[in-house]
Amino acid sequence: MSFVDNNFTVPPPLTVAKFGGTSVADHAAMSRSASIIKENPSAKVVLISACSGVTNLLVELANGIADSEQRSQRLQQLQTIHQNILSQLSNPETVSGDIQRLLNDVAALATQAVHNPSAQLTDQLVSHGELLSTYLFAQILNEMGARALRFDIRSVMKTDSQFGKAIPDTDAIRQQAESQLNPLLTNDQIIVSQGFIGSADNGTTTTLGRGGSDYSAALIAEAIQADNLEIWTDVPGMYSTDPRLAATAQPIKEISFCEASEMANFGAKILHPSTLVPAIRQQIPVFIGSSKAPEQGGTWIREHVEQPPKFRALALRCNQTMVTLTSLNMFHAYGFLAEVFRILAKYKISIDLITTSEVSVSLTLDQTDTGGGAPTLPVAAIEELNQLCRVDVEQDLCLVALIGNKLGEAPGAATQVFGTLEQYSPRMICFGASTHNLCFLVKTNESREAVKTLHHALFE
Ligand code: ADP
Ligand code: ASP
Ligand code: MG
Repeated sequence: MSFVDNNFTVPPPLTVAKFGGTSVADHAAMSRSASIIKENPSAKVVLISACSGVTNLLVELANGIADSEQRSQRLQQLQTIHQNILSQLSNPETVSGDIQRLLNDVAALATQAVHNPSAQLTDQLVSHGELLSTYLFAQILNEMGARALRFDIRSVMKTDSQFGKAIPDTDAIRQQAESQLNPLLTNDQIIVSQGFIGSADNGTTTTLGRGGSDYSAALIAEAIQADNLEIWTDVPGMYSTDPRLAATAQPIKEISFCEASEMANFGAKILHPSTLVPAIRQQIPVFIGSSKAPEQGGTWIREHVEQPPKFRALALRCNQTMVTLTSLNMFHAYGFLAEVFRILAKYKISIDLITTSEVSVSLTLDQTDTGGGAPTLPVAAIEELNQLCRVDVEQDLCLVALIGNKLGEAPGAATQVFGTLEQYSPRMICFGASTHNLCFLVKTNESREAVKTLHHALFE
């Protein structure tokens, strides 16, 4: 199919659509998502997550469950989730052999993980969630009369070999997409593939980190130069804060790349933090909507929006680890921070936020890998840092971020925020590095209330 316009043949629009775990949770959810695809002829590439809850179960198994009864129970849960979908297919036999083979692999790998857990094995094991769901989703599309082709994304999604948070190789992805995906796009078919998973140079399976399917979809959209990226989830777009945190959260119809990137970066779970990087590089507008209620519309994320507001949204990111390094030698000295960063780089520790005083520096650790939990400093890194300064590590903290526009120039913005938070004790306040955000840490047990209070004061 091609569109003829003033004697020029214009290629038809191309959309990459991504469906998250709740959008492919069971047969009903998969069928709703498949209908969205069928109704949009431009949606030629579909990336999906594992069925809801499956990755969590696989991560548990990958961590090694020694008790065989408990292990069998998790395996049984996985069997039930996929069996339920299979049993509602018109032709289950088309895919039941593949599903059983993958579930058998999971059982074998889970036993291996008891004796020899590793980040590499974790990625191999958790990748089965997306491998399983794509067999079922492609079959549902086919049974609805579409022509779906299941494709293993690992041959295109090339990454380095940092298991659990692999870094995509965008040049290799583009080359592989050109040779493997583009030829398939010319046919009247829908490519159904996996988010989240990839492969290293030697072919070993990797993952992009929890929630990474959004990022996968953006990378593929960039590689095939799609016109749009659609992220289908369980809420009709982005809100002024997580609607699960504040029922009064307000929907956002349109938001700029800059603002949405800040939201994703500061923990708005609706988007993996890196999702918008490829979209911005290729200037691909992103739509976020609910697969449960597509008619409700959603949020468009694009380069520019009309009249961006002063306060846009609040994000909350928990499981923060704060490291405070104190040394009197820091006073008027040079080279101290360079030495700290050299040690952190040596242990591949990525820093998120940083604040300094004359004798101390506080930083938070980045946390994205598939294994989950709060990030920690390796003992060897602490020992090396201890030669230089005192090291205090604190957990049980959450990061609250206010996202907006020209916050630094807005008179009284900080007073408005901190005046509202009188009864809390915000720490490590970061304001000024970007005009788009103001953020601080609070204790986990007061974080939800702090966001609600702030939301009430600034948005309601
Ligand atoms: P999926 O499985 O589809 O990727 P996620 O659970 O990762 O879905 O992301 C969707 C969830 O993001 C929503 O259910 C919502 O609770 C949460 N969320 C966090 N911040 C926001 C926000 N600002 N607007 C909308 N949803 C948000
Ligand atoms: N299934 C993976 C996860 O649960 C990736 C994703 O859903 O985006 O983290
Ligand atoms: Mg997600």
